[in-house]
Amino acid sequence: MSMVSVAEIESAIRNVPDFPKPGIQFKDITPVLADGRLFAGAMEHLLEGVGRHDVDKVVGIDARGFIFAAAAATRLGCGFVPVRKKGKLPWQTHEESYDLEYGSATVAVHVDAVRPGERVLLLDDLLATGGTAAATVSLLQKLGARLVGIRFLIELAFLGGRRRLGTAPVRALVTY
Ligand code: AMP
Repeated sequence: MSMVSVAEIESAIRNVPDFPKPGIQFKDITPVLADGRLFAGAMEHLLEGVGRHDVDKVVGIDARGFIFAAAAATRLGCGFVPVRKKGKLPWQTHEESYDLEYGSATVAVHVDAVRPGERVLLLDDLLATGGTAAATVSLLQKLGARLVGIRFLIELAFLGGRRRLGTAPVRALVTY
C-alpha cells in the first residue's frame, strides 16, 4: 500500500481556468510530478495490481503519457512504446486520425513497436473525450497487441470518454 493517498495527489492537481482557451479547465499535473513523494505515490496507485510479469510493453501517449509510461516500464521491468503525434516517428508507422472540436488529429506508432500477442498496458495523464485514447487503441489493434488495461491519472467522467475505449479494463485515479 502506498504511503500517499489519492486524496493527497488530487489536492496537488492544479486547476487552471481558461487554458489553453476560454471554457477549458486545464488539469495541471506538474505539481504532482515536481514532488518526488507524490510522483512515486501516483505511480504506485497507477500500477496497483499490475505485476512485473503481467505486461510486455507499456504504451504512453504523446506527451504527458510518456512521463507515466516510461516510469511504469522501469518499475515493471518491461519495454516502453511511444504513440506520437503524426510526423515525429522516423520509421514506418501505422496512423490513426480522429476528430477534434475543430479539425482532426493523427497519432502514429512504429509498425514494429509491439509484436502480435504482446500484452500491453496503455497509460496517459488524462481521459477527456477519449478521442486520443480510442485512436491509440485502434493503433494497438493494428499491431495485434493484447491490451490488458488502460489507466489514467485523471478522468473527466462527464465527457464519457471511457465508452469509446472498447473492452479492456479502464481505470483512473482521480475522477471529476
Ligand atoms: P481526449 O482525446 O479528449 O480524451 O483528450 C485527451 C488528451 O488531451 C490528454 O492526453 C490530455 O493530456 C489532454 N487534455 C484534454 N483535456 C484536458 C484538460 N482539461 N486538462 C489537461 N489536459 C487535457
